[in-house]
Amino acid sequence: MTDGPTYGFDTLQIHAGARPDPATGARQTPIYQTTAYVFRDAEHAAALFNLQEVGYIYSRLTNPTVAVLQERIATLEGGVGAVCCSSGHAAQIMALFPLMQPGCNIVASTRLYGGTITQFGNTIKRFGWSATFVDFDDLDAVKAAIDDNTRAVFCESIANPGGYITDLDAISAVTDEAGIPLIVDNTSATPYLCRPIEHGATLVVHSTTKYLTGNGTVTGGCVVDSGKFDWSANDKFPSLSQPEPAYHGLKFHETFGPLAYTFHGIAIGLRDLGMTMNPQAAHYTLMGIETLSLRMERHVENAEKVANWLEDDPRVDYVTYAGLESSPYFDRVKSICPKGAGGLFTFAVKGGYDACIKLVDALEIFSHVANLGDTRSLVIHSASTTHRQLTPEQQEAAGAQANVVRISIGIENAEDLIADLDQALSKATS
Ligand SMILES: *Cc1c(COP(=O)(O)O)cnc(C)c1O
Repeated sequence: MTDGPTYGFDTLQIHAGARPDPATGARQTPIYQTTAYVFRDAEHAAALFNLQEVGYIYSRLTNPTVAVLQERIATLEGGVGAVCCSSGHAAQIMALFPLMQPGCNIVASTRLYGGTITQFGNTIKRFGWSATFVDFDDLDAVKAAIDDNTRAVFCESIANPGGYITDLDAISAVTDEAGIPLIVDNTSATPYLCRPIEHGATLVVHSTTKYLTGNGTVTGGCVVDSGKFDWSANDKFPSLSQPEPAYHGLKFHETFGPLAYTFHGIAIGLRDLGMTMNPQAAHYTLMGIETLSLRMERHVENAEKVANWLEDDPRVDYVTYAGLESSPYFDRVKSICPKGAGGLFTFAVKGGYDACIKLVDALEIFSHVANLGDTRSLVIHSASTTHRQLTPEQQEAAGAQANVVRISIGIENAEDLIADLDQALSKATS
């Protein structure tokens, strides 16, 4: 099909990027389990290597199954192109790589996936990059943190560990004024609930491991480009605006226009960093995306029921679900993610750390795992696991205090989830 802008989300999540296999007519996208592709002749090979013709060379760079997934996610996000990667964390490095040089920094929200705080707070220093973490509700603090060496601002739309919605319109007004790209991790929301590009995001990153695949089978990531940023407006982004020695002095922005960032991600990023998604993983994720809207609707419906029940329970101190009227972010849901506040939130258990540990052990339907966005309901006590490496101040800023449990609500029967929480809370607080 041709991907007209008139098609709705449910149609695009099944069809965008895919067409019957030209060789066999196979209706489902085949898993192109191949490393290399035969060149028509030597001239064809040379044109491909010079980026004069787009095609397949070697699966570290491009693969037809992965290409369908890239086009599907780019379409659902309203971007011009996308690059899939081996994991969400790989996608974050791939997103920053074209923008950064030693000595450059990013300004990031304090409310992020625990692994991202560690990646940005510690690991990227080895590349000579750094991150400044600030409260994204404090716009003056965000502005003040941006300096001459800042190359990106990074936040999550519905932020981990749940209950917080970033005011993307306000943040993108700040990044527009500063002339730097806004990168939004849209993993917890998915493009069904939130479309960050419509709120001013330059780039959208995903851990496709989570809701996009939706069944807990494969890790993956994706970087989507809005195609809207002017990389040549100043000399801050030489990888995109200046001659690239490894391609005979080609200038990506001048040559590829709005697709510059995507081409760079493949031709330099995947070629040299090799954080490639494999075609099997792309297949599982394509299968998952076909039902994304149906699943997200149920995740939201169940999360609303469970959050409301928990909020009324005397064994629970508080619930941080942005879909609850008591949430300070309830109004933001309507503008940023109008179809609902997602399936991820935290609640505080009376009895603190010990009660949380007992609760996690007593739950039967909820699995105790370091994952989210599965069809299955999942639970984790962040303070003793994913956010364990963080200081108490960082845990507090990230909403992962010792008395707080994070749940990822699945698409089971809500009544069963509530009954499971009921029995586990009794054991945890008796
Ligand atoms: C899981 C997750 C990541 C990291 O993704 P991986 O696929 O595990 O590498 C990044 N951001 C968010 C919001 C996540 O939930």
